[in-house]
Amino acid sequence: MRELACDVLVIGAGPAGLAAAATAAEGGSRVVVVDENPEAGGQIWRSAMVHGPHPETSALAARALARGARFLTGATVVDAAGANTLFAVDGAGPIMLRAGRLVLALGATERFLPFPGWTLPGVFGVGGLQALAKNGLEIGNRTIAVAGSGPLLLAVAAWLEQHGAHVLGVFEQAPKASVVRFGLGLWRHPRKLAQAVALLRVLRQVPRHHDAWPLRAEGDGYVERVTFSVSGSERTLQVDYLACAFGLAPTTGLGALLGCDIAGGGIVVDALQHTSIPEVLCAGESTGIGGVDCALAEGVVAGHVASGHDDRARAACRRRDRERGFAETLGQAYALRHELRGLPSPETIICRCEDVPWSVVAESDDVRDAKLKTRAGMGPCQGRVCGGALEFLKRWPRDSVRPPLIPITLGELAEVGAALNRTEDQTR
Ligand SMILES: Cc1cc2nc3c(=O)[nH]c(=O)nc-3n(C[C@H](O)[C@H](O)[C@H](O)COP(=O)(O)OP(=O)(O)OC[C@H]3O[C@@H](n4cnc5c(N)ncnc54)[C@H](O)[C@@H]3O)c2cc1C
Repeated sequence: MRELACDVLVIGAGPAGLAAAATAAEGGSRVVVVDENPEAGGQIWRSAMVHGPHPETSALAARALARGARFLTGATVVDAAGANTLFAVDGAGPIMLRAGRLVLALGATERFLPFPGWTLPGVFGVGGLQALAKNGLEIGNRTIAVAGSGPLLLAVAAWLEQHGAHVLGVFEQAPKASVVRFGLGLWRHPRKLAQAVALLRVLRQVPRHHDAWPLRAEGDGYVERVTFSVSGSERTLQVDYLACAFGLAPTTGLGALLGCDIAGGGIVVDALQHTSIPEVLCAGESTGIGGVDCALAEGVVAGHVASGHDDRARAACRRRDRERGFAETLGQAYALRHELRGLPSPETIICRCEDVPWSVVAESDDVRDAKLKTRAGMGPCQGRVCGGALEFLKRWPRDSVRPPLIPITLGELAEVGAALNRTEDQTR
C-alpha cells in the first residue's frame, strides 16, 4: 500500500483546511492536505470547470505549496487506526496516511427536509444546483424557485439571476422579524453588511417571502409546479427547477469514527480547536455552521496549534471569537421552526438510497433501531442525506457511523483491513 507521512495531516481543502495548511506549513511543519473533491476549494470556492479556480483558493494553496505542503485531491478518508494512521482511497487504490497531528476540516452538507415530491428530478439542493450550474448544467432562462432557510438562499438566488436564470421567488422559513433583526445587527460586521446589500440589490426584482416553505412538488416524472405555504396561505408556482435546503449540517463522520465528542450537531472543540481526542484538531463548519470567515479564522488557530505555536494561536483567537459570535446570531435568526416537522406525508421517502418512507421510519425509537428495521441510512450515501433530516425530524444525533465512510471496492476494503490489522499488531 502507498504511504504518506507528515507532521500535520489536514482533511478537507475548503477555507478552514486551506487556512490551517498554509498556517501550519509556514509554522515549519510538513503538511499533507487530503480532499475528496478533484480540486481544492471546498464548497464556497468550488473550483469550476467553467470558471476556473477561485483566487482565494489559489492564494492559500500557493502559501502552503511554497512551504512544501503536499495536496492529495480526489482522495476520500474512509477509515482510521487511531488518530495517527488514516486510510484514504483515490482512483489508484488505498493510501496509508501517517501524521503527528490531525486537523479535521470536513465542512458541512446541505440539510434536506423531505416533503411530498422532494425526490422528483428537477428538485435540487440550493448549493447543489449552484455546484451543478458551475460545472455546466444549463440554467439560462430557466424558471427557478429557491426555498428553505439561511443566507445561502440569497447568495445562490443572486448568483442564479446573474447567470441568466429567472428566479421566481425566495421562500425563507424564518419569520421576517427575526431576519430583519439579524440584518440590523450586521452593522457590527461591515464586510458582511456590504455583501448583504450587494445581494439584495441583485434581487430587487425578485419576490422574497418569509414564514414560507414548500408543501409539495408535483410533475409528470419531473418537477413542474411547487406549492408553498406563505404566511399561512397556499401559493403554487410553475417551475423548471426547485432549489431547496434548510441550512447546513456539519460533517462529523470522520470525527465520530475517531471517537471525538459530538454535540449540538458538530464536533466539539475547546478554545484552541482541540477536539476531545489528543492530537486531533477541528476547524470550520464541521464544528458548527459559521460561514466562510469563521472557517478561515478557526483554520488559522488550528494551523498554529498543529505546528506547535500555541502562543500565535492565542493571538489569533480574537478574530475567531468575533466570527463565532456572528455564527451564534446566525443560528438563532434562522432556527428551523417546529411546523417543518409536519412536512413529510406517510408515503414521503426519507432515505432515498433505500427507499424508506416516513411512515416506517417514524415508528423507530433511534437511529440504530431504524437501521436494523428499515435500512434507513445504510445505502451508498451512508446517511449523509437522511441523517440531517432525521436529526431535525426525530431529534436523533448523527453520531452513528461505521467504516468505510463511503462505499469502496471489495479489493480496497481487503487492503485497508489487512493494513489495519498490521497496524494493530504493531501497537500491541
Ligand atoms: C453545497 C454548499 C454550497 C455553499 N455555497 C456557498 C456560497 O455560495 N456562498 C457562501 O458564502 N457559502 C456557501 N456555503 C457555505 C460555505 O461552504 C462555508 O461557509 C465554507 O465553505 C466552510 O468552509 P469549510 O472549510 O469549513 O468547509 P468546506 O468548504 O465544505 O470544505 C470541507 C472539505 O472537506 C472535504 N471532506 C470532507 N470529508 C472528507 C473526507 N472524509 N475525506 C476527504 N475530504 C473530505 C470536502 O470534500 C470539502 O472539500 C456552501 C455550503 C454548501 C454545503
